[in-house]
Amino acid sequence: MLQTMADGPNMDQCDCGAIAGPLGVCVDYYHGILAEEQADPRMGRWHAPVVCAYLLQHPSRAHEKYLDGQFRLLQLYLDKGLDALLRVAAHQVARNKHGARSSYDMAPLAAYTPLPPGGSPSHFRATFSGLPFREGSFVSDGHLAYGHRIETIAEATVESWRSVRATQESQGR
Ligand SMILES: [Zn+2]
Repeated sequence: MLQTMADGPNMDQCDCGAIAGPLGVCVDYYHGILAEEQADPRMGRWHAPVVCAYLLQHPSRAHEKYLDGQFRLLQLYLDKGLDALLRVAAHQVARNKHGARSSYDMAPLAAYTPLPPGGSPSHFRATFSGLPFREGSFVSDGHLAYGHRIETIAEATVESWRSVRATQESQGR
């Protein structure tokens, strides 16, 4: 059946603005990554940046009150590296087990830019549906290459959110 682009939701475009890849839109890639991580602890090292970047690129699927902490965690990752992020994330988990009320201990994250209020970005230069999936795997060319791609997505995520704020500030005058 013929259908024009204007009819109904466009199944080839994700709500982050990305075009679908061979696996589908970003949520299909995200679920694929989470499944492969379960069987591959080395790949699972990038779990925190994957989750933060995915939710910040698709804020309608996220809990709004956690997005600011997730935005700051991504900045810490880009600033200090994966080991530093893992230390902070492990601390958060231990803290939650002790029944702390808020999900994120903001002390290590206080230095970073807060999430801009209002609108969210409509475009990211690197997206989940753009990740290569070969031979049934996201890490067919090695974990370092995979980690580098996740870092690029994290950079693109922070960059676009920062540009939202810059746009709002210039319009606010
Ligand atoms: Zn998307």
